[in-house]
Amino acid sequence: MKLLIFGPQGSGKGTQAEILSEKLDMPHISTGDIFRENVKNQTELGQKAKAYMDQGQLVPDDIVIAMIKNRLSQTDANFGFVLDGYPRTIPQAEALDRITKIDKILEVWISDDESLMRLGGRRSCQKCGAVYHLKFNPPKNESQCDKCGSRLIIREDDTEAVIKERLQQYHQQTEPLVKYYQDQNKHIKIDGMPPIIDVTSEIFSKLFIN
Ligand code: AMP
Repeated sequence: MKLLIFGPQGSGKGTQAEILSEKLDMPHISTGDIFRENVKNQTELGQKAKAYMDQGQLVPDDIVIAMIKNRLSQTDANFGFVLDGYPRTIPQAEALDRITKIDKILEVWISDDESLMRLGGRRSCQKCGAVYHLKFNPPKNESQCDKCGSRLIIREDDTEAVIKERLQQYHQQTEPLVKYYQDQNKHIKIDGMPPIIDVTSEIFSKLFIN
């Protein structure tokens, strides 16, 4: 199954994508994670993306499209994947339609207030990318990753001004994807407000996963 998952910052899309990828044994491909990895390793791609990311802006379409085309050509993505954070614009969705055929699109909805509140407590693992929330999904130790033991940090793009900018970008550029995929009869809306476990249940039920 080829799945897309999108939603505003803090909607839990990354967490749900990880759960789905484990359950269905398919790669979880997060464009945000790929960019962060490239920034960390100071690659050419990372250097191009960093300034946009730090300001809460989207990385330009041509850069993202080339990157995703390359990632989806790798053999582990041949039979299915959970794509998280892509597409975020209509041109990105059109490019994806030219690369492969997507089965379903999950929109994980939360309100703007909830997004701001959730991102305030978010902590991310520098090394393996695991994401926690001090209130909703706390690590055993506030400053340490449960999975790999590395230090947890507040991402540079999780500050309040940057979160507001990212939300505005989301409404302007990413929300039009709802209609784009409704027209293809592939859009599934998920209520992202309840606890993680309930959101997972709704996703499994709507995708007919046991
Ligand atoms: P995320 O972790 O998905 O919130 O992504 C973090 C940042 O990476 C975003 O705020 C963007 O700057 C950049 N990014 C990730 N995916 C995309 C995309 N599909 N298009 C443009 N920029 C992206």
